Amino acid sequence: MTQVVGFMDYQKQIESFVCWHCHGRTDETAMFCNHCGSVQNVRAADHFARLGLERRLDVNVTDLDDRFNKLRKPLDPNFFMIRSTTERNFAARQLIALVEAYETLRDPVQRGRYWLKLHQQDFVAAKNDHPVVQKMRAEFDNVADDTAQLDMLAQRTNALLQNGVMKLLTSLRQQNWEEANQALVELDGMEDILSQTRARRQGMTKVDPDTEWSC
Ligand SMILES: [Zn+2]
Repeated sequence: MTQVVGFMDYQKQIESFVCWHCHGRTDETAMFCNHCGSVQNVRAADHFARLGLERRLDVNVTDLDDRFNKLRKPLDPNFFMIRSTTERNFAARQLIALVEAYETLRDPVQRGRYWLKLHQQDFVAAKNDHPVVQKMRAEFDNVADDTAQLDMLAQRTNALLQNGVMKLLTSLRQQNWEEANQALVELDGMEDILSQTRARRQGMTKVDPDTEWSC
């Protein structure tokens, strides 16, 4: 799809890539001006670009961690304590955007959902649970308040979740958006069951009086 950029839009775009402090030209994703070193305000960029990564569905997690750690270091709020309010705000916004990009790309399910959005395939929530989810939900409703049974259910749900993640990534690689949507619905259902199972399990754990918090 070709996007037609009008003159005004183009003008805006140019202006937005100018350093607020020295008016030097900066890159779209630059966190700091390469002329004067001032921290820049956050600009619209996709999560991959923000982390300096190629836009690919499969992410090398070690590489992602390294990039994130390198990029966030200069944004440490301590470095901006004696700077102007503008700079403190810009650094804080940069950090929020960076963390959001990192967390989205690090989690395969969040990355998958984001990938669909990037391909303009908005996620449509299904009206009904997937049959596998329905089955697990029924099991959860029927399971007795028994720690061993709940642990087994959690374990099985977890295994199904892992399968679901594989299914999601495979569908996305094949650009089968419909199947990817379906996998996401399934994953949401599984995550919901898993968190309910954990909550119920936690509620059943007796508190040891010796380790109980005292006021
Ligand atoms: Zn500058």
